[in-house]
Formats: sequence, structure tokens, C-alpha cells
Amino acid sequence: MLAPYTLLDRKSDLSRHDIRLADKAFGREPVFIAGPCAVDPEDRSLLLETAHAIKEAGATALRGGVWKPRTSPYAYQGDSRALDYLLEARERYDMPICTEVMDNEELAICLDARVDILQIGTRNALNYNLLREIGRRSAGSDALVLLKRGRHMAPVDEFILAGEHIAAGGNTNVLLCPRGTLPTVEGYRSYPDESIIPLVKEKTWAPVVVDPSHAVGHAKYVPRAALAAFMYGADGLLVEAHAVPNNGICDDPKQAITPQVLQQLIADAREVFRLAQSYAGLAQA
Ligand code: PEP
Ligand code: MN
Repeated sequence: MLAPYTLLDRKSDLSRHDIRLADKAFGREPVFIAGPCAVDPEDRSLLLETAHAIKEAGATALRGGVWKPRTSPYAYQGDSRALDYLLEARERYDMPICTEVMDNEELAICLDARVDILQIGTRNALNYNLLREIGRRSAGSDALVLLKRGRHMAPVDEFILAGEHIAAGGNTNVLLCPRGTLPTVEGYRSYPDESIIPLVKEKTWAPVVVDPSHAVGHAKYVPRAALAAFMYGADGLLVEAHAVPNNGICDDPKQAITPQVLQQLIADAREVFRLAQSYAGLAQA
């Protein structure tokens, strides 16, 4: 029987296609994307300080929210000025950038600015029109599309099929990002879902970049959740990190790890990544 996805199928010819971020090839070594939840539009130097610190800590790319999907319409919603700061940081520290797009207008702005990683958030993970459109409009560009797992998604196939929409639109540089599903345990922000990684990887060649920050929701739990994810076979990490978490906006005061913690986490994750590879062979035996 044919798999319901063809492009992202692990058995497809595309499985040999290399997805790269700066000088890193997914699958060969772990990739680290770090930065604030939201870029403060009033504080350019704070973003530059964070960008510099996470680069020094060993991150490959800088993340940062320009426009934010907020549960409350009265909470901070984002500001286009934040994109200018990300672009400045990219130039200054020579690192790719990642930001979330929620509609076609934001997508057009980001494609124009050649944003390296376009993030689709958990709230839009089932917005098939947006998924197709992002695939269509970024086809042929070097942009990667990072798709968060929807909070309501249970079957692994539903997650991979959402990614297939992007690939079918025309961009096969798809990264799948588990970030926790609906909360069922008290104490964590979401239900941490790192354990689905081996199941995802048995079905698709798409690299898995895990987000432990929105899964556990507290900086103190993030490093352990991240290392567990690498043990489960993650190819990369998307993590909220901030030079001064308490001065951050949106999730940062609660969730962001400091550059010091990030540096240790990156060193440990490299070791766990190597350790996990010996188990990957076993799983497919
Ligand atoms: C984020 O990355 O800051 C974010 C809003 O993520 P999610 O869509 O997973 O909630
Ligand atoms: Mn966040």
C-alpha cells in the first residue's frame, strides 16, 4: 500500500537530498537554533547582545519572533521593526535567522528579506492553505520551512502530512518540529512529545528539530528535555535563549535559557547525538 505521503516518505528518492543550514548538513551533526521568543522592538542592542552570546555558545542559527501568535488579543502582537534587528544580527554575526510567519503578507516580507528559516507555528500547523502557499512561494529558494507539531495532533501521520503539504507546494526543505501537545500533566506547559521522534524518523527522511521550550515551559526543565530528544534521535534543536531572560518579552522570562546554559547544553547534545546514532542502527534492524 502506498504511504499517504510520497515526497516525505523515508523510501522516496528525496531521502538522499541534503538539507543544509550554514555549514551544517542535517543528519550528520546536530544543529542548534536559539534565540528569544520575541525580539523586543524597543531594544535593538539587547537582540544584538543575545545574538552574539548564542553564537559564542555554539548555536548555528538565531531564532526570534517578529509577529507573535498570542492567546490574548491584548498581549504584545509583534512589530516589523524586530525583523530589521534580526537582519542586522545575521549580517553582523554571520548566522542564518528563523522567524514565524502566520499569513501571506508576513511570508512575502520574509521572502523578500531572504529569511533563512520560515517557521510555521503550532496554531497554523493545520492551516493547509498557508502550508501549500509557503511551499509554493518559497519553491526554488534556499529557505527552509520549520513546521511545529500542532497542539491537537495525535497521529504521527497527521504531522508528516502537514509537512507534505509544504513539500507538495514546491519546497522540500521541510524540518519537522515536535513542541509538545495539549497539556495533560500539571507542571509542564504542554505534553512533552520527544518520544515520537523515532516513530517520525521511521516514516520520513525529513529532519526533526525539537523544541523543548514550549513543551516543558520552564527554563529549568529545558536542558533535560532537549537531551532526551537527542537520545530519541533528534537532528536539531530549536530553543528559546536570551542574554537576560528577565528582560525578555512573551515567553522569555519563564522559558528562555541563558547563553551559559546553552553552551553546556550544546556540548552535551553533541555527545548524546553520537550515542543515539548507535541505537538508530539497532532500531532499524
Ligand atoms: C514560538 O516559537 O515562540 C511559538 C510561538 O511557538 P509555538 O507555535 O510552538 O507555540
Ligand atoms: Mn515562545
